[in-house]
Amino acid sequence: MSELTTWQHFIGGTWVEPASGQYVESTNPATREVLYRAARGNATDVARAVAAAREAFEDPRWRDLSQTRRGHLLRRLGDLIAENAEDLARMETRDNGKLLREMRGQLATLPEYYHYYAGLADKIHGDFIPTSDRQVLNYTAREPLGVVGAITPWNSPLTLTSSKLAPALCAGNTVVIKPSEYTSATVLRLAELALEAGFPPGAVNVVTGFGAEAGQALVDHRDLAKISFTGSTATGARIASATAGRFIGSTLELGGKSPNIVFGDANIPNAAMGVVAGIFAAAGQTCIAGSRVFAHRSVYDELLERVTERARTIRIGDPLDEKTELGPLAFEDQREKVAGYVDLGRGEGARVLTGGRATDGGGLGGWFYEPTVLVDVHNDMRVVREEIFGPVLAVMPFDSEEEVVRLANDTEYGLAAGVWTTSLSRAHRMAARLDAGTVWVNTYRAMSPMSPRQGFKTSGVGVEHGTETIREYTRLKSVWINTSEEPVADPFTMRS
Ligand code: NDP
Repeated sequence: MSELTTWQHFIGGTWVEPASGQYVESTNPATREVLYRAARGNATDVARAVAAAREAFEDPRWRDLSQTRRGHLLRRLGDLIAENAEDLARMETRDNGKLLREMRGQLATLPEYYHYYAGLADKIHGDFIPTSDRQVLNYTAREPLGVVGAITPWNSPLTLTSSKLAPALCAGNTVVIKPSEYTSATVLRLAELALEAGFPPGAVNVVTGFGAEAGQALVDHRDLAKISFTGSTATGARIASATAGRFIGSTLELGGKSPNIVFGDANIPNAAMGVVAGIFAAAGQTCIAGSRVFAHRSVYDELLERVTERARTIRIGDPLDEKTELGPLAFEDQREKVAGYVDLGRGEGARVLTGGRATDGGGLGGWFYEPTVLVDVHNDMRVVREEIFGPVLAVMPFDSEEEVVRLANDTEYGLAAGVWTTSLSRAHRMAARLDAGTVWVNTYRAMSPMSPRQGFKTSGVGVEHGTETIREYTRLKSVWINTSEEPVADPFTMRS
């Protein structure tokens, strides 16, 4: 029997055994085979990692590094990711069950995250502010915050970690990452590549383990300047209240229940493909899943037929096989949650048009669930209101633009929305009226490190990607300098 790979924490540029001496096993969700063990972190490990990050933050090798040089390091890290893309894609596919073909696509664009922020590193600066007294200079400086805590989920570990790591480093911070306990390996490998790229030891640290232990300890650490979190709205709310009393910032990218709206004038074959991509890609395990479809009554039957037909023929199986279209859910509880929601929907009166059953992926033995289409549903049902995070679509008809705007916005979430129409004016009207941080028209799931995104309502706080996110990782200092050497005449009117 071959020995199981063991991953330690990555702290201060070196592998560190967990203080508890304990490890967490990670399993391939397609086969239930145990893949590796990762250190089970606790508050002692977190304290060690934050101390290493703090030391690196204050080290002149990092603090005084020119912004241009910081950019070079980010560029090098992007290049190293590109060189290791196939390995990283396979590692992540085995770990969370995402299709290898999707992971190859993600890895093809992942270097861009680092290259984009490499280009931005030497463009972070303050302003010169004119004041009423020409003898007094006022300028602003954008400074790094300090040690940033990054907590990420299992569905796209490398991409979601990079959305935080690249801008945080670009702005001059150091980082402690706590990946999901289900998918630690690629994030550990990423930290190793950061060291290889030339980032000083302690600039990027990873503490693995459970959210309630390592994650909570990171959130509670007094020396943390900021938390950047992607995960569920429930955990995001806990983090927001835990950090509120310390007045440290948090960027929160949370859940969604996004509407995908198909108008009567849409290109229906394309819209059907967009609906399928929106909910069945990644087995529905994406925050932006288009899990609520509203179809105009004039095209409802046609759209439903096309979507259902495609859903029935989706190839379920080994995510490493290029032909597979739907892999497993990431772990057993996730499949139980999805199955539980479909049963709940049936109890609420929903009709299952296709799917609605767990499968073993054609003998692989993993945690698969059939692509599922629910009809006879309405906005008051829990299957329509709550995030399922699985391949379960609810389809509803509508009659007017006014009605669909109301239905689409009738949700506590506000992450994303899709619109399918050939009317230019309608496209703009809908983009303006939908209460979602991202609106796609005649496409779905498009994303780029260059394009800022924000979750509205309970889908998040703060911006990721683009130049905007640099504000999230910097603080603004205002500096006033009196250039006059005249004696101060009146201390009670010392103003510019
Ligand atoms: P969770 O909120 O359960 O977990 C996210 C991360 O937080 C994990 O690393 C988890 O660790 C950790 N964590 C859990 N509890 C705590 C705690 N008390 N303190 C600190 N950290 C904690 O989300 P999931 O992993 O289930 O991810 C799915 C969710 O992520 C969905 O709701 C989805 O919509 C959202 N998401 C949002 C995206 C966005 O950009 N808006 C993108 C992708 C996903 P552990 O796993 O070890 O428990």
